[in-house]
Amino acid sequence: MSNEQEVAILVVDDEESLREVLYEVLSEDGYQVATAASAEEALTLFAQNHYALIITDIRMPGLSGIDLLKQVKEKNQDTQIIIMTSHASLDTALTALRAGAYDYLIKPFEDLELISALVRRATEKIRLVSENKTLVVKLQTYNEELESVNRILRELAIRDGLTGLYNHRYFQEALAMEVARAQRHNRPFSLIFIDVDYFKKYNDTHGHPMGDQLLRNLSDMLNSRLRQSDMAARYGGEEFILLLPETGKDGAAIVAESVRSQIENYPFDGRETQPGGKVTVSVGVSTFQEDGSDAPSVLHQADQALYKAKHAGRNQVMKAKS
Ligand code: GH3
Ligand code: MG
Ligand code: MG
Repeated sequence: MSNEQEVAILVVDDEESLREVLYEVLSEDGYQVATAASAEEALTLFAQNHYALIITDIRMPGLSGIDLLKQVKEKNQDTQIIIMTSHASLDTALTALRAGAYDYLIKPFEDLELISALVRRATEKIRLVSENKTLVVKLQTYNEELESVNRILRELAIRDGLTGLYNHRYFQEALAMEVARAQRHNRPFSLIFIDVDYFKKYNDTHGHPMGDQLLRNLSDMLNSRLRQSDMAARYGGEEFILLLPETGKDGAAIVAESVRSQIENYPFDGRETQPGGKVTVSVGVSTFQEDGSDAPSVLHQADQALYKAKHAGRNQVMKAKS
């Protein structure tokens, strides 16, 4: 609301001459003015239109101005109400103020300019309340946007840019938490370390972009076959790691073997030029606590097992300490 023209005012009085005076003065001041001869008529109008300000007589046949005030405030707390009263019932005016009226006017009017000034102040308050509401809404929207940007930033910080899997740093955090949890509850968890065989050759033959695509496909495959509680991370270049909570050595070896075989059989583009005509991976499996009781040692054991798998001819799964 930037000017008077947009403020609609409802004048309520059973005396026609008084309605006319107010109508004249306020229309002259640039407001949109409607009139009602009773509180009942005012309520009907109020249900159909929005009035920012109601100027009402207190004493009318039927519902009083106070009744009107209460009913209007129940419907719209923001509607401002000015009560008109005679000197004789000033105490009723005070009752009205306590019930939430903005102010009161004393009849008969001595100076019409007083009415204009009072209405100007009331509409200024209406404008401020409305601006304030808009600001609060804007602030809420702004906060929600900030929250969503923060969520995205948090995700970016923990994800690997190429594959969308969790990154190395996040994996280390998750591993530390899993070690603490497994220790507390005396439960196992396993790591599956995966390294693409002869990946340098694949890159050299098909180029780096196709190598990237292979890593993305492989990541999607890893991600899609995991349980909710498992996590897959890109450990480094063409090395991936799976963290399987509540999983012992035998269970993890079954998952590892199934991953290995799925990759061996996946029709990666350009696989025919790889040794054996397939893209394959070597896999090492280690388990907390039997292979280590802290993060570095379980990790080291998975790495050692992977190393053994490479040396035993690649495209196979090796368990730690076996
Ligand atoms: P091995 O069977 O012993 O694992 O042999 P390899 O060739 O896979 O292993 P090596 O460690 O010699 O080479 C890994 C290659 O992975 C070299 C590097 O250029 C490539 N590489 C690492 N990160 C990326 C990447 O993000 N994209 C692509 N396209 N290649 C990558
Ligand atoms: Mg490697
Ligand atoms: Mg490799």
